[in-house]
Amino acid sequence: MAGASVKVAVRVRPFSARESSRQAKCVIQMRGNTTCITNPKLPKDGTKHFTFDYSYWSHTSEEDPNFASQRRVYQDIGEEMLAHAFEGYNVCILAYGQTGAGKSYTMMGRQEPGQRGIIPQLCEDLFARMAREGSPELSFSVEVSYLEIYCERVRDLLNPKSRGGLRVREHPLLGPYVQDLSRLAVASFADIADLMDSGNKARTVAATNMNETSSRSHAVFSIVFSQRRQDPLSELATEKVSRISLVDLAGSERADASGAKGIRLKEGANINKSLTTLGKVISALAEATSKKKKPEFIPYRDSVLTWLLKENLGGNSRTAMIAALSPADCSYEETLSTLRYADRTKQIRCHAVINEDPNARLIRELRREVTRLRELLSAQGLTDPSLTSSAPPSTAPPTLNGDPGLEPPLGPTEAMERLQETEKIIAELNETWEEKLRRTEALRLEREALLAEMGVALREDGGTVGVFSPKKTPHLVNLNEDPLMSECLLYHIKDGVTRVGRVDVDIKLSGPSIQDQHCLFRSCPDPSSGEAVVTLEPCEGAETYVNGKQVTEPVVLKSGNRLILGQNHVFRFTHPEQARRQREQGASPGPPLDWNLAQRELLEQQGIDMRLHRLQELQNQPQGDKEGSEQTQPPEVPACPEPPPCPGPGCRPLPVPSVPSVVPSGPRRAGRREPLRVYQIPQRRRGPGTSSSSSSSSSSSPAPRVSTEPSLEPAPRLREEEEKDEGGEQVSEVEGLRLHLDRLAGILSEVRRQNSAKDEQIRALRDRVGQMERVIPIPLDDADDADPPPQDAPRDPSPCCPRPRADPPSPPGAAAARLCRLMEQDPAFRRGRLRWLRQEQARLMAGGGPQPLLQPPRRPPRFQQDPKLRFPFKSNPQHRLAWAGGAGDAPQAENSPLPSLQPPPHSGRPRRGSLDGGSPPPPRVRRQRSAPDLKARGQIP
Ligand code: ADP
Ligand code: MG
Repeated sequence: MAGASVKVAVRVRPFSARESSRQAKCVIQMRGNTTCITNPKLPKDGTKHFTFDYSYWSHTSEEDPNFASQRRVYQDIGEEMLAHAFEGYNVCILAYGQTGAGKSYTMMGRQEPGQRGIIPQLCEDLFARMAREGSPELSFSVEVSYLEIYCERVRDLLNPKSRGGLRVREHPLLGPYVQDLSRLAVASFADIADLMDSGNKARTVAATNMNETSSRSHAVFSIVFSQRRQDPLSELATEKVSRISLVDLAGSERADASGAKGIRLKEGANINKSLTTLGKVISALAEATSKKKKPEFIPYRDSVLTWLLKENLGGNSRTAMIAALSPADCSYEETLSTLRYADRTKQIRCHAVINEDPNARLIRELRREVTRLRELLSAQGLTDPSLTSSAPPSTAPPTLNGDPGLEPPLGPTEAMERLQETEKIIAELNETWEEKLRRTEALRLEREALLAEMGVALREDGGTVGVFSPKKTPHLVNLNEDPLMSECLLYHIKDGVTRVGRVDVDIKLSGPSIQDQHCLFRSCPDPSSGEAVVTLEPCEGAETYVNGKQVTEPVVLKSGNRLILGQNHVFRFTHPEQARRQREQGASPGPPLDWNLAQRELLEQQGIDMRLHRLQELQNQPQGDKEGSEQTQPPEVPACPEPPPCPGPGCRPLPVPSVPSVVPSGPRRAGRREPLRVYQIPQRRRGPGTSSSSSSSSSSSPAPRVSTEPSLEPAPRLREEEEKDEGGEQVSEVEGLRLHLDRLAGILSEVRRQNSAKDEQIRALRDRVGQMERVIPIPLDDADDADPPPQDAPRDPSPCCPRPRADPPSPPGAAAARLCRLMEQDPAFRRGRLRWLRQEQARLMAGGGPQPLLQPPRRPPRFQQDPKLRFPFKSNPQHRLAWAGGAGDAPQAENSPLPSLQPPPHSGRPRRGSLDGGSPPPPRVRRQRSAPDLKARGQIP
């Protein structure tokens, strides 16, 4: 098939509860396929327009005729891609966008009717169509794999033995692939749904145990769809194989490929190399398309994700991207960046081909490869020569797309490894369907056994997957920051004692701060009602929190309580009977009892921010994805996307501490927040405009003179901190005020220190000015300049006597009088003296020192306001006359040997002194911002 562009859709979600509670404004509008985004700071002329294949307005509800439902998104994109899969093309759908923008909702969706995303709908449709079109001549098979890429490591989500870290290899025939990734045979949509559920559970368990940030991982759900047609006449079989890749990318908020947001850079923030590289790959491909030339170099190999999706990005695939947008004004920058990203992506052209009989061809070519490798090994005397087949020696193997393999010669170890690998691939390809099903079933049992061993509850039918909720037994349900991972693990609390910890327990947890024996739940029937009463008993030293409060003594749990064990295992306790009774009594539902609530309580009560802690850990990890990529991304904690939640209706208001950003100090372990600084003393004062706070505060005042002034402005704070403040911290007022006072005292002493430093500088400046004034009066005589300097130029640095003038001279000594006489009468002396004066002036002017501090570049020099003092025209009546007439500065400028002494435009007002009145000119004193001194010397009336 000829090249087709990547299909690009954008979709805007409704406001989240948090955005609504903050009265967020919608910055997105859509008309037809066009999406407009308005800069909230420039609402009049800050609108940008983008056109895509589809612009989905999901900001409102079904009642809105323009509303784009899950179904419509699937019908436009999913159905088309499924049709291509039936034609035999590889297809790929990618979801891109910042965390919380709706990627997972679009791809996976929710369980409720009408809320399912593209993946379940596509899978369901796939099986429905297979059932419709299947016949004795046409048979289908579907295999599924599900992997996650986190910090450049690949984890098989369907194989319980996978610990993450599968190798991504490149086979000369297959191209890049994940070694040992399980590919499970499925016979129905229910099978696929079960696998998706299992995969999501595995992802949740791993993310929680490993303390990972799920929004930083990419999930790739792949379906290998084969159609086998048997021609009844010729009895020849043809096969078409399509790979359907459904990718839920990591949150894009810190991985802007453009790198345009440099101000948010912070050390070690290159959290997601795969996403960064994806941006580079897309840019390179888009550029190649726009210039209509073959791309020279596409950095596919720079990350695991791009390497695995190589064919889907500009290769043999029909690809679509859905960019999820947040509507809120606070996410404007991220949303604009997503739109630009999507705009670049639509330029990419892919070159899909129908994959006909790839397996038969692949097996043929793999066999030839095996023969070649055996020959190579036997030539090196490494294998039994009997292994060598009688087939003619082959040359380098061709790749699947027919290019000759350009392989470097293989060493014996590599050849042996390759041989084993190729034989394994052949065996897998030759596996019968029954064998595949058996392997799939074995893995399912292993997965469920592992979950059961961890204490994850079983359904009545024995399975662990699917949504189920016990009717009577009290239980814990997991809560996660990512809605996709929330409420998918369930743990029963049995009658008697249920132990929790690492070793010899009923509920097995791992991760930071989980002890071998962490806590236990005791469930005993209440003697009066017979209802089970569940008590949580923490073990000594175990971190256990109930509703944000750390508990060290046994506590009776109530249905709906939030429990945090260790640093990141978050649960909701549910007592079905209690919950039912509460419902019957008409208790108001209150805010959602979710991860956000649990996190906010923890922050309020303990000052612990789980998200921040995880990010810090992530940034400190010495992992592959942090090396090498120059596009470091801002580490700022996810912006608007759904961190600490909206309190929601009915939630009690947060206490506002008197010093909102101060957390009680004291011993804290890693992961606890340090007390936030209220004020800061910057090392260097920012220039105007470098930050909004400094620009606003300094806009009305002149530019700062000294670069070390203390700032009493609030320190710029991370959004995270602001959110934290909003969450409110339970800091006692006294403690807060004490901290506040300490800080103010610190600032005061710093101000004193800096003031005395400034006094020193001013003293030094005065001395220098004094020196300069002694040598500054320079008569400008062009004729003198042209003459060669006399050999006997005086070296005497004594002050030059000014020419006769109206004002009485300052007390001259005898030497000064002699100097005057010589200057008047001896031209050679005069030339020499002038030359020396100029040199001296130049030396002092170039001397550096504190002068720039006194006069920042943007500030107009003060002497421009007082031209009288600056222009020593006395010696040249022509100049004086020209100046007095308000013209003639051009010739002066040309003639002046010292550019710094050029006259400014005439101010028009009568000047003091005698220049305008024809009386003797004033002394030609070159004033260097030293009016006070001149006044002191009586030179200014
Ligand atoms: P992401 O995967 O991009 O981080 P999610 O898909 O998890 O974001 O979405 C965040 C929240 O917003 C979820 O609670 C989800 O249900 C909700 N959401 C996202 N998109 C929509 C939409 N189009 N309609 C309704 N709710 C949505
Ligand atoms: Mg998601």
